[in-house]
Amino acid sequence: MNQIKRIPGRQAEIGEGMALLRFLPQRQQRMIGAWCFLDHAGPVEFAAGHGMRVGAHPHIGLQTFTWMLEGEVMHTDSLGNQQIIRPGQVNLMTAGYGISHTEDSLPASQRLHAAQLWIALPPEFSAIAPAFAHHADIAVWQEQEVQLSLLVGEYGGRTSTCRVYSPLLALDLKAAQAQTIRLNLVPAFEYGVLVLKGSMQIENQTFDETELAYLPVGGQEVKLSLAAGTQVLLIGGEPFAQPILMWWNFVGYSKHEIAQAQHQWEAGAERFGSVAKPDARRLVAPALLWREE
Ligand code: MN
Repeated sequence: MNQIKRIPGRQAEIGEGMALLRFLPQRQQRMIGAWCFLDHAGPVEFAAGHGMRVGAHPHIGLQTFTWMLEGEVMHTDSLGNQQIIRPGQVNLMTAGYGISHTEDSLPASQRLHAAQLWIALPPEFSAIAPAFAHHADIAVWQEQEVQLSLLVGEYGGRTSTCRVYSPLLALDLKAAQAQTIRLNLVPAFEYGVLVLKGSMQIENQTFDETELAYLPVGGQEVKLSLAAGTQVLLIGGEPFAQPILMWWNFVGYSKHEIAQAQHQWEAGAERFGSVAKPDARRLVAPALLWREE
């Protein structure tokens, strides 16, 4: 394992000025497997009366994946789901053909810390029916004195119940005391390791929260040394076969498909339904940067 790449996060904002670090997509690394978007939000402490508020917005062609570390967020979507997500839980929303949703931290929840990712759907699943799943049943176990939580895929003989549409992994690792752990890798997968809290060494290279470590395909195992109190997120997958287009909250395979989704959102089309939240702001897409065919 010698070609570890450093991907620095860039400052970004969501939902009325909540600052975060965005690690995917970036020029030097668009995706890791089907993982096409990776935000590390917080930890932040909101001033009284403030919080995260993300108004109604649409998605197509992807799944949104939320891994909660601190705080409580209400998810409301156009399928009629209303779900609070709490620490140690995962929300997995499949946009497929089209969905819209809002995300708001609960008023009593003054802190927020989460990882939010998108998973691109392969072309044959790109327009499947939308769905939402809340996972409070995450498998958690100890290995080499590190606490592992399997969020997506298979590891150590366990299989996550999160339904995804390409070979993927998401594994959370937490060490109370300084520990070194060797993890088995799938040689066909590329991987990213993000420090959520603390610091780590991968094969003797030091990383903190500001940089994502990228591991190319071909690895059999990796040695992670976690400082006391460190938590990291390992994601992986088979390099995605098809180039995707990402625009605003849409993933697709043609500009036409994305422009159509945007026009339908702007027209209030039935495709994206409506979120049963009367006070929700409706987010406006940025103007398309290309001429339509
Ligand atoms: Mn969203």
